[in-house]
Amino acid sequence: MVLPKYDLHCHSTASDGVLSPVELVARAAEQGVEVLAITDHDSIGAIAQAQAPAQAANIRLLPGVELTACWGSRVVHLVGLGFDPAAPSLQRYLDELTVLRLDRAQRIAKKLMGRRLPDLLPAVLELAGDGQVGRPHFAMALVAAGVCETEQQAFKNYLGTGKVGDVKMDWPAMSEALALLHGIGGLGILAHPTKYRLTFSRLRSLLTDFVNAGGDGVEVSYAGIKPEHQRELQKIARKMDLMVSAGSDFHQPGRPWVELGRFLPLDTECRHVLTSLL
Ligand SMILES: [Zn+2]
Ligand SMILES: [Zn+2]
Repeated sequence: MVLPKYDLHCHSTASDGVLSPVELVARAAEQGVEVLAITDHDSIGAIAQAQAPAQAANIRLLPGVELTACWGSRVVHLVGLGFDPAAPSLQRYLDELTVLRLDRAQRIAKKLMGRRLPDLLPAVLELAGDGQVGRPHFAMALVAAGVCETEQQAFKNYLGTGKVGDVKMDWPAMSEALALLHGIGGLGILAHPTKYRLTFSRLRSLLTDFVNAGGDGVEVSYAGIKPEHQRELQKIARKMDLMVSAGSDFHQPGRPWVELGRFLPLDTECRHVLTSLL
């Protein structure tokens, strides 16, 4: 099967992306993308808005989401694809995550105030708008308040692992997120496996647990992955009989190395997730 040009991982203003769902679809069309999944963090808010413009631009829109989950004490991201976006169980699941995320935002704001910083919560909620609130919104607010010069610096000094704003949360277990996706007819894909700062042997145990929990596929091509890591992941995917997926993880314009539809080509011997979605 010759695959169309696609992108199965990107973000809109329904989470921490900069472009609205409509703008994101327009950009995808400019880039020649024919199949698109908008995968916002714990939100499917973009799907309804993107539907009509996608149809007008001849883009096949696949239902997508990026679920935050835990694997032991680690936080991992699961891309859900091809599910029924109207399923009530999905809405309940995401509503619970909205409450958890708001609670975390309040706790982060308080912790930062404990460091004599201004109360950033109003600005953070304004930035998040109707979308799911996350740490990137705190990074933007820290820059806007003049506390940090860049968002990277905000993560380095205040929000990253072990810093004051690194407030732990009880995310649903990876197995729970996978069960939800399967219950609504979707596929569960482990997102950007090399971004969890795991050694490859730890990554193999993550993938083993993922397969045992019913995981369907793994992303093996995305912005920033090294070619040797992609090769290694494809080898593991073949061995574990996992499908492979790819997406830019696009969040904002102005970073040409993270463009919609642009990532390393995949090994044709691997079973592509699109073959079971199209
Ligand atoms: Zn992610
Ligand atoms: Zn993402």
